[in-house]
Amino acid sequence: MATSVQTLGQTTARAGDRLSAVAIAALLGLGLVFVAGFAPATVLHNAAHDFRHTQNYPCH
Ligand SMILES: [Zn+2]
Repeated sequence: MATSVQTLGQTTARAGDRLSAVAIAALLGLGLVFVAGFAPATVLHNAAHDFRHTQNYPCH
C-alpha cells in the first residue's frame, strides 16, 4: 500500500511571500467579480451576478 507522508514545517515561504500570494489572489478574485460584473456583455454580467448570489455577496 502506497502512502504519502506530509510533514509539517517544511514550508519555506516567508511572511512576505505569503502576503504577496494573498494580495495577488485577492486582486485576481476581486478583478473577476468586478470586471466581469461590470462587463457590457449580458451573458458575462449575468454569470458574475449569479456567482455573487451563490457567495452571499450583497448586490441588490
Ligand atoms: Zn443580484
